[in-house]
Amino acid sequence: MSELSVLREQICTLAKSIYDRGLTGGASGNISVRLDDGGILATPTGSSMGTLDPARLTRLDAKGRVISGDAPTKEIPLHTAFYDTRNQTGAVVHLHSSHSVALSMLPETDPDNAIPPLTAYSVMRLGKVKLLPFFVPGDPAMGAAIRGLAGKRSAVLLANHGPVVAGKDLEAAVYATEELEETSRLAILTRGMKPIGLTDAEVAEVVRTFGIDYA
Ligand code: ZN
Repeated sequence: MSELSVLREQICTLAKSIYDRGLTGGASGNISVRLDDGGILATPTGSSMGTLDPARLTRLDAKGRVISGDAPTKEIPLHTAFYDTRNQTGAVVHLHSSHSVALSMLPETDPDNAIPPLTAYSVMRLGKVKLLPFFVPGDPAMGAAIRGLAGKRSAVLLANHGPVVAGKDLEAAVYATEELEETSRLAILTRGMKPIGLTDAEVAEVVRTFGIDYA
């Protein structure tokens, strides 16, 4: 099996796993992976993460032109914004995951650090997550808002919509997205219960130990 075929299978397997666990429903959510030729392999528009066909994934060339597969998702600018501003990005995942969307709507959520440091892994896999405003689906301003961060953040949370997370490869991006949703769930579960998250000193120790970019 060629490397590209393996990648196609991997995208579909991880997407189904995400769908089966209720992390994004209906035809929501999308995944992309950067290819060696500078192009992108992405889940197509209107497709359910639960029933993707490896042969129908959208392949874009380095200029963003579709060269095979179904039409791309209109959310592809969310993905290219990360590829263009963060060199180390090998894959991007976007979900409509309930707990992170819930967190995006709470007035106490810090727009500069939307996912509270409740566990070491959320700090390690996500750094600080920026909360971006609500955009009408398809609004080019969505991608522009990510570009505006100049590659300084690997994960953002779109208000009333969902997370967009970049990783060095497909697995890293998926696992980081899961961490974002899981930590949001913890924050929602313990809301109003005065949960004791990591202290500033503990966050600093995690950041130092694992060399995390936490600016
Ligand atoms: Zn979306």
